[in-house]
Amino acid sequence: MPVSAFMQACLHDPVQGYYATRPGLGTDFTTAPDISQMFGELIGGWIAYEWQEMGAPQRASLIELGPGRGTLMADALRAIRTWPAAQALDVHLLEASPALREVQAARLSDATPRFLISLDDIPPGPFLMVANEFLDCLPARQFVRDGKTWREQVVGLDPDGDLVFGLDASDHDLQGLLAGQATAIAEVQPGLDGIVTMLASRARDGDPFRALFVDYGPDDRAPGDSLRAYHAGRQVPPLAMPGEADLTVDVDFGRLARLAASAGLDVAGPVTQRAFLAALGIQERLTRLARSAPDEAPRLYEGARRLVDPGEMGTRFKAICLSSPGLPPAAGFAAA
Ligand code: SAH
Repeated sequence: MPVSAFMQACLHDPVQGYYATRPGLGTDFTTAPDISQMFGELIGGWIAYEWQEMGAPQRASLIELGPGRGTLMADALRAIRTWPAAQALDVHLLEASPALREVQAARLSDATPRFLISLDDIPPGPFLMVANEFLDCLPARQFVRDGKTWREQVVGLDPDGDLVFGLDASDHDLQGLLAGQATAIAEVQPGLDGIVTMLASRARDGDPFRALFVDYGPDDRAPGDSLRAYHAGRQVPPLAMPGEADLTVDVDFGRLARLAASAGLDVAGPVTQRAFLAALGIQERLTRLARSAPDEAPRLYEGARRLVDPGEMGTRFKAICLSSPGLPPAAGFAAA
């Protein structure tokens, strides 16, 4: 099977998949909203500001893809609860894991979130979409260069019945995809095309929207072989623990930006998480929180540092915003 089918089964099999069987998720990875409340709070401010920039529509959908434990959305909504935007936004969540849907429904009960079955269920009208560490879970196909052509990397069984990588016999032409880059192995996430297609169709309907994605990956080249597996906080070989390990790849931000631009969307970024959070005012937020809770200052400082330090999440993570055409420039993306 293609690597993408392997990823899909390992992550989303309804009985044995990682997200179906590991509702806790706490031990395998830590994300920005887990590290500091400031991450969600600043994105809350971004949401409220961008709602204003859209002309403060009376009703708009606020959509999160892959909300995990619901921490980002809880922090965002708390930060803006007294702002006019909070009254206008209807919260919608897209979550593949039934166990996590329960966690999110409980955590966000004040906002009475609605669950979307698929990206095509987003209600008509204006919307703001956010997704942190969602794109990296979208299954990737891998292609290995073979002279002038490319062969797809597949997962199969060796004579002992163990999982192994192999190469499919048929040729693939990746020239258009790779935009001239020389690489021996290339990863392609077809899910990025699906998201852009959906957004482009909403733009054609005339709905104003912004979609903010924060994730890890290079901004200047296609990821090579970046498939990784994590179990209990440790990296394990990708084929070692199917269904028991989290599988992830780097996001090809360059390709996402090219796809979106050629579909007629406005593209802001990618910029580093460090630049994005700085532009949204993480320094000011930290100062304010530390003043109001001096005992917490060291912990708050440490959280902010991990979000922006280039040695931690600061530069490996990027933010990109895809918008319907005609809106003002998105906040947080001005050239540094
Ligand atoms: N955004 C959260 C969680 C990131 S983990 C945070 O930052 O902490 C990835 C999340 O995306 C999980 O909630 C996972 O269940 C969900 N997910 C992964 N693939 C998905 C898919 N195809 N459709 C819907 N949700 C998905």
